[in-house]
Amino acid sequence: MEIKITLVCPDCVGQSIKKNGIKSSGKQNYCCKDCGRQFIGDHALDYKGARSDINHRIEFMLVRGVGIRDVAEIEGVSIRKVLSVLTKSKKNILPKESHYDNLEVDEFWTYVGKKERKLWLVYAYHRETGEIVAWVWGKRNYTTAKRLRKKIEDLGVSFDTIYTDDWNSFIKAFSNDVHIIGKTNTVGIEGNNCRLRHRIRRCFRKTCCFSKKLINHIKAFRLAFFYINYGYI
Ligand SMILES: [Zn+2]
Repeated sequence: MEIKITLVCPDCVGQSIKKNGIKSSGKQNYCCKDCGRQFIGDHALDYKGARSDINHRIEFMLVRGVGIRDVAEIEGVSIRKVLSVLTKSKKNILPKESHYDNLEVDEFWTYVGKKERKLWLVYAYHRETGEIVAWVWGKRNYTTAKRLRKKIEDLGVSFDTIYTDDWNSFIKAFSNDVHIIGKTNTVGIEGNNCRLRHRIRRCFRKTCCFSKKLINHIKAFRLAFFYINYGYI
């Protein structure tokens, strides 16, 4: 019986691989001819947290509503590993358009550490394309609403109409814009709020999962926003 294993470089995904001696553990060591990366191949690993596709798998689970502990258990890696992938994730999110016909704006309640430590997500959403265009974190007040208005401007985004509910801070923050108030126009963003509550474990309703650290909280949302906007992770 002959079993063939195709090896690719975990760094550059190149396929020109050569054997490069035996490790002290007795395992065959390989070397990438293109970038010089040395590795022993996924098939020979003892610790699953070192697999070449593990970081991607963890990120994918995190944006599909799987909690930290569940990911660790399912993948056979440590909780530390999962958290490290989360905190090291770098997703650059930029608006896809410079002008939108309309944007829906709403606030979304979350917390970090304990329920009393509320952290509001205030964000702008484009219903037709399902894109999260801009967002800020803060208290549920006028300052945060104003910061979102400024963020939209700083991102170089313009819009014809803004839709919000009748929260007073929105009325003040968007006073110089064409602003239409009413729940009927914010159906899109309400639907997206629901999507966030399904996709990010720490903001599920009635869950015991929550963010202990602010950085984890923000990273978990950024990861999900990237997945929602671009459709992949
Ligand atoms: Zn390589």
